[in-house]
Amino acid sequence: MDPDCLFCRIVAGEIPATVVHETDTTLAFRDISPKAPVHVLVIPKEHHPDLVAMARADPGASADVLAASAAVAEAEGLLGDGFRLMFNSGAYAGQEVFHVHAHVLGGAPLGPMVVLP
Ligand code: AMP
Repeated sequence: MDPDCLFCRIVAGEIPATVVHETDTTLAFRDISPKAPVHVLVIPKEHHPDLVAMARADPGASADVLAASAAVAEAEGLLGDGFRLMFNSGAYAGQEVFHVHAHVLGGAPLGPMVVLP
């Protein structure tokens, strides 16, 4: 755990979150500022700053995050109409929290994949 990491502190129970799914290695909770009717963040409980760091250090955690994301999408009723799974990584992607997280987005048509400013 990184004591300065917001999402590590959610895993530790020090900061509240609306948890929707949990496994031994992952936690999923609602985004505090949702960008779609369903917006859930899926994280590994272990701290990895971004997707590349997690994939290099712990491929099993990467698989667990994907499996948990699929379980969340199903539990949220998104399989019929579809959903988007998104990892922001680094500055150009606008990553704000440096504990890797998958965004599960759905519940309405999501528009184009990318809109440049
Ligand atoms: P990213 O830009 O990919 O790093 O996304 C970070 C996400 O974390 C944003 O969508 C924020 O709304 C979300 N977020 C920030 N703080 C919290 C929190 N305390 N609980 C839930 N989601 C949060």
